[in-house]
Amino acid sequence: MILDHRKALVVYSGGQDSTTCLFWAKKHFDEVRALCFRYGQKHVVEVDIARGIAERAGVPFEEKDVSFISELSTGCSLTDTSIIMDKEPPTPSPDMPDGRITPPNTFVPGRNLFFLAIAAVYAREHGIMNLVTGVSQTDYSGYPDCRDSFIRSLNVSLNLAMDEQFVIHTPLMWIDKAETWKLADELGVFDLVRNETLTCYNGVKGDGCGECPACKLRRQGLKKYLSSL
Ligand code: ZN
Repeated sequence: MILDHRKALVVYSGGQDSTTCLFWAKKHFDEVRALCFRYGQKHVVEVDIARGIAERAGVPFEEKDVSFISELSTGCSLTDTSIIMDKEPPTPSPDMPDGRITPPNTFVPGRNLFFLAIAAVYAREHGIMNLVTGVSQTDYSGYPDCRDSFIRSLNVSLNLAMDEQFVIHTPLMWIDKAETWKLADELGVFDLVRNETLTCYNGVKGDGCGECPACKLRRQGLKKYLSSL
């Protein structure tokens, strides 16, 4: 299979991070597609929001149902309505990149592993060399599969698995939420990201519920960015 270096596939959820990545990809590649997953998330409205934004961006959109992911493990508050969500994102610690910290109960084990593996197979089928994901180690919230070491390792594994030369791009890996807002602004989509995306774990679009850890992180970043202008 010949992979085209001008084509990119964005793992897309309709949130602040992946929407910023969607427009980043549009700037850097000639052909962009978006792949979205239903994984049993309670805030499944994000899939419709993602589709709508992709349409507005003129990006072909596809969704895949991988709900079995949430059936493999228990204890995740994003997929199990009986579990109360951890309110606070874990406090970053100096030893964060290599030290182990306990992920919050919003962690879905294997999510990014499954998403990127499926994305790579999909990309191969469509001759797409570049995979784009919005993970960030800076604000990684204790999710081990958002770390750079995991992404690099997976990139190697995917290439070995299919004897291909995929390149996983992580434009947000080393920037914080405030810098992600700045990037959206530079890409000319600040208002779209602020008003149309859904980051909130409780399914509230735009500025969100303000209570869940995803909202808190997003708001802190927005405040920091706006105060820097
Ligand atoms: Zn929220």
